[in-house]
Amino acid sequence: MHICLLASGSKGNSVYIESGTTRLLIDVGLSAREITARLNHIGVDAADLTAVLISHEHRDHCRGLGPLARRFNLDVFIHPETLAALPSPGRLERLHEFHDQCFTIGDCRVEPFRTTHDAVAPVGFMIDTPAGRVGIATDLGIATRLVSDRLRQCRALILEFNHDLDMLRDGPYPWPLKQRVSSRHGHLSNEASAALLAELLWEGLETVFLAHLSETNNCAQLAESAARSILPGAHQVTLIVGTQHLPTACVTLERDCIEVSHG
Ligand SMILES: [Zn+2]
Ligand SMILES: [Zn+2]
Repeated sequence: MHICLLASGSKGNSVYIESGTTRLLIDVGLSAREITARLNHIGVDAADLTAVLISHEHRDHCRGLGPLARRFNLDVFIHPETLAALPSPGRLERLHEFHDQCFTIGDCRVEPFRTTHDAVAPVGFMIDTPAGRVGIATDLGIATRLVSDRLRQCRALILEFNHDLDMLRDGPYPWPLKQRVSSRHGHLSNEASAALLAELLWEGLETVFLAHLSETNNCAQLAESAARSILPGAHQVTLIVGTQHLPTACVTLERDCIEVSHG
């Protein structure tokens, strides 16, 4: 399995996951042209995508959806309320609507789960592949029991580390926006994300992508040290910080390494 954050942050989000011949894009928060270029950068042709999944209707997750889906005739998996709330999707033909049920795309079993965020039907995704499980949860107002339950036993996690509480408090955002970001329907602070990560630790967790960092109210060092602070010394977990302007490294998880020794 290969995983890459093509872009991550409040100006645009997109995650690429490849398992065997199944190539998924989670969210299309950049222009179709930019997504295509970033896929090329990691050696993937957008025409070879199997499907696109959408987490919620905010522009930083859907901006290039219509043009990309039409240009490459892609299958789009989306909640019907999210579809209805898209600002201007244009014509989308190969639509697959999901509610809370699991569905299968190629060799990936996808389980959407609801999150609290100020969108009509926001979801995170747990994706089971032959090389293990990957969990994706960004745009979380709070980390509910449902979220932590769904993200258990992941080999790779993509988790929001949105803001540092002090930087948000002292930063330039107007007061109502500060309130929205830190509310139960906004975004997770480094502290809250680290607490969620602490709940999700298990011996099979190998890689954590720190995602959706605010460029104004956070920095990579603070997010990373919050995550590090809850990792026990002996626990070998690779942390990768997603950025807005460049794709992350493409992480490969080999299928035959999945067996975890319980001693
Ligand atoms: Zn959002
Ligand atoms: Zn977002």
